[in-house]
Amino acid sequence: MLEHMGDWKRTDYCGVLRAGDIGRSVVLMGWVQSNRDHGGVIFIDLRDREGIIQIVFNPQTNREIHEKASALRDEWVIAVTGRITSRSPETVNPNLPTGEIEVVADGLRILNTSKPLPFLIENDVRVDELLRLKHRYLDLRRPNMRDNIVTRHKAVSATRNYLNRKGFIEVETPYLTRSTPEGARDFLVPSRLNPGKFYALPQSPQLLKQTLMISGLDRYYQVVRCFRDEDLRADRQPEFTQIDLEMSYADENDIMSVVEGILKAIFEEAKGVDIPVPFKRMKHEEAMLRYGSDKPDTRFGLELDEMTETFRDSGFQVFSGAVKKGGIVKALKLPGKAGELSRKEIDDLGETAKSLGAKGLAWIRVSGDEWQSPIVKFMSDKEKDDLQKKLGLADGDIVFFAADTAYIVNMVLSHLRLELGERLGMIDQGRFDFLWVEDFPLLDYDHTEKRYVAMHHPFTSPKEEDLHLLDTEKGKVRSRAYDVVLNGVEIGGGSIRIFQKDIQEKLFHTIGLTAEQAREKFGFLLEALEFGAPPHGGIALGLDRIVMLIAGASSIRDVIAFPKTQKGLCPLTEAPSEVEQSQLLELGLKLDVKEKDK
Ligand code: ASP
Repeated sequence: MLEHMGDWKRTDYCGVLRAGDIGRSVVLMGWVQSNRDHGGVIFIDLRDREGIIQIVFNPQTNREIHEKASALRDEWVIAVTGRITSRSPETVNPNLPTGEIEVVADGLRILNTSKPLPFLIENDVRVDELLRLKHRYLDLRRPNMRDNIVTRHKAVSATRNYLNRKGFIEVETPYLTRSTPEGARDFLVPSRLNPGKFYALPQSPQLLKQTLMISGLDRYYQVVRCFRDEDLRADRQPEFTQIDLEMSYADENDIMSVVEGILKAIFEEAKGVDIPVPFKRMKHEEAMLRYGSDKPDTRFGLELDEMTETFRDSGFQVFSGAVKKGGIVKALKLPGKAGELSRKEIDDLGETAKSLGAKGLAWIRVSGDEWQSPIVKFMSDKEKDDLQKKLGLADGDIVFFAADTAYIVNMVLSHLRLELGERLGMIDQGRFDFLWVEDFPLLDYDHTEKRYVAMHHPFTSPKEEDLHLLDTEKGKVRSRAYDVVLNGVEIGGGSIRIFQKDIQEKLFHTIGLTAEQAREKFGFLLEALEFGAPPHGGIALGLDRIVMLIAGASSIRDVIAFPKTQKGLCPLTEAPSEVEQSQLLELGLKLDVKEKDK
């Protein structure tokens, strides 16, 4: 029954034909989306990459192909010749871009058949994601998935066009490389030619892009895959794509304006939205104070209030105890929202807070003049006055408190802020709110390792004016790092780098590396820094997350053609897989995998 395309050449994509094409003869090829028999006349929706168009097979005009058409089933691949005609007014479909026209078929070739499908090729099918990933070729036939992939293409192409115009040079850096220090676990690749040695897949091209600045490339970029062997959370993948760039003789403002230009170009090309630049800027310290987060969603208010001083000596031990241990107290006020949260919902929020590590969640609900709350009885009049002054409590308000280490308080309240903002409909979902967060601390104290670690990475320059604190108050040193945040999602981060060898060595020392370890890990960088390294800086943007936000997708897996599951599996290719014993032998490897780990 199957036929060849023969000498038929496709003239058009189905989805792009319009009323202006009426009268034309066309040759179309695509998939049968649906097959309806209306009193002898057969209607087929033919689908290709660009959309669908209705094809009519009428037994009155051509009995032979009408009969052939009656055999067609969903997702068969066909070629059709015919003439474009207008639909009668009562059959016009205003929901379809091609809804004013149809193709009256005068030729049909069946190019391939299809087994019955595991799920329908439609936007809103509820299908288990594993099944979608296993049959990704079918999943990608769904219009919204196709749109996501096209959006991604547009974003990359807008980026390249913009950066090429600005004098950036795209350079590829190796995937088989040495372990790089972005703080995650490396994926390792054994070297057959060098038994016992391993390449690491790059966590980012950080050191090599800096090396390119020392080479004099001046402006580098790359749309590059990065690999991090981490436990996967919702918007993480073991391999992901960065728009990576580096510039010589640049300061923070230079990098920021290039990034604003890239994002403006991406949003225009991929979304048709004009985003205003420059973006707002906020210091890290202010972001933590007001939002409890270094990537605040600034589309809505609900800012946090610092209450530590009010409760330093409070009779309410939960608060004063936390402060005595060096912790803080903060409040999250929901103006006028008390009526929208039931007692059960308030208790559930307390449970959420506990699941995040808090000991509990205190609250006050204002009803008329009365403060309904399990904690008010422990407060002095002075504390209540202070509270009232700072928070301006009014009828209908509800306020939540957390008291613990700054880390826990900020984490819990920023989480609740987002959850409540969302639940109470306070977030304008149509808005794109960009923000630069700058002046991050250079170092972060790692309590398990009992040493300072680089907050961004150890090549980030400290602020000149804080350099003297490196020996005395490490935690106070600010860095020249910056993040770009969109709607509360970090979509990029970078820094101005250290370009002097002595400062780089000092930093390695500060994070606990001996001179020996520093040489062994980063010897080539330290050496290169001695040969006329220009000042430089850069950034990497997370392409997957940017496309996810533009596409309104709920997971980055929906904007990656062939993503992995949370367990790092590819259900389509069934990677990772076992390998032949002979392959292991060649690599000089022996497996020691316990049954329970399989
Ligand atoms: N390499 C850094 C990262 O992947 C970005 C940068 O500092 O340019 O986060």
